[in-house]
Amino acid sequence: MRRKGLASMAVEAVESRTSVPRATASFGPAVALSCRECGERFPLGPSFACVSCFGPLEVAYELPVGDPESLRRRIEAGPANIWRYAPLLPVPADVADRPNLNPGFTKLVKADNLARELGVTGGLYVKDDSGNPTHSFKDRVVAIAVEAARAFGFTTLSCSSTGNLAGAVGAAAARAGLRSCVFIPHDLEAGKVVMAAVYGGELVGIEGTYDDVNRFCSELIGDPLGEGWGFVNVNLRPYYGEGSKTLAYEICEQLGWRLPDQIVVPVASGSQLTKIDKGLKELVALGLVEDRPYRIFGAQAEGCAPVSRAFKDGHEVVRPVKPDTIAKSLAIGNPADGPYVLDIARRTSGAVEDVDDERIVEAIRLLARTEGIFAETAGGVTVGVTRKLLEDGRLDPSLTTVVLNTGDGLKTLDAVAAGPTATIPPSLSAFRTAGLAGL
Ligand SMILES: *Cc1c(COP(=O)(O)O)cnc(C)c1O
Ligand SMILES: [Zn+2]
Repeated sequence: MRRKGLASMAVEAVESRTSVPRATASFGPAVALSCRECGERFPLGPSFACVSCFGPLEVAYELPVGDPESLRRRIEAGPANIWRYAPLLPVPADVADRPNLNPGFTKLVKADNLARELGVTGGLYVKDDSGNPTHSFKDRVVAIAVEAARAFGFTTLSCSSTGNLAGAVGAAAARAGLRSCVFIPHDLEAGKVVMAAVYGGELVGIEGTYDDVNRFCSELIGDPLGEGWGFVNVNLRPYYGEGSKTLAYEICEQLGWRLPDQIVVPVASGSQLTKIDKGLKELVALGLVEDRPYRIFGAQAEGCAPVSRAFKDGHEVVRPVKPDTIAKSLAIGNPADGPYVLDIARRTSGAVEDVDDERIVEAIRLLARTEGIFAETAGGVTVGVTRKLLEDGRLDPSLTTVVLNTGDGLKTLDAVAAGPTATIPPSLSAFRTAGLAGL
């Protein structure tokens, strides 16, 4: 078996927890946790690694079979957030009535100006997840994890975070009336630190990289200190991950219940990319979209590109790296879902590619200049990789292509040096002298 990062990290924690709390509330269509490696099934609980083979667990469903038309109508009649897809998520049917941040249903922007610039003729779209409550895609995954935390009776919500998750957990816990204690690397961007701290929970800077923070959290889970704590991306990870499926659902619904041909997704731990694939497959299985080939492309920053490296080298395993990039939200050197990202990119005839920091900044500016969307560095990574793949001829410009922007440029202001064209006294003569009149 290939070595899975998450699984190896999880072994001790699973074994040390003797009295696993059982689900007390409904998980909707979810029926079990199943091992992604050996397929063994376990009851829905706060566990994340298979006791037989240590493979990662994921949520298994009995999805609504029957008339796709009536399911489609039911979804379309739902709220304008991720809960419209509640019949496909591990949440109770009345989830929309509970205190939650209700993320999702963000804009799918038809990016015609960017398409012209990049030479895409088949339709180019930006799925702009900066429009979520705490301005990143992380609100989706946390919303599902909060419901699981409630069901398992956890009183404290926690996580290790590269920044965006910290804000999403702090805000969601505040709304849900849970305590929160969040762990971040000590050197994050100021915008992300403020975003994480303002909601009033505990915020702890750890002197180390994200991977050090993650290792610390897995020790805390196995310790009495962490009793009653739900770590959204560790012991609640199977539920958390399912939130990313909603990106796939929304993209298809917003395209008029159609699969995109090509989709470019940022890769940190790789969870988002694997669950987007899961979501697309579910829509096909349910008859909500027509089955046709789609290609998934993973995007990383050159300064933290372990999955891209493995893809290019033809490896099945991902060798950990020490991150050094401005794309801090993607700076996970030991990505738990890396091997699955490789499988999906290869299976769908996609690719995993990376771009350097300079091209990330260029891409942020390009997206802002062409479409009026100010992306964080992760959006610079996906747009930069899209451009590179088009130049190399690996993305087909005649096909419908969706690029994800998963965060907001206001959180990574330091990445872009931008300022006034001129600073002048408030007089017409000064403006005339500045040479900007009649642009
Ligand atoms: C967390 C994050 C991602 C993706 O993370 P995965 O661990 O790969 O699921 C993408 N973009 C931003 C901005 C993020 O914060
Ligand atoms: Zn297993």
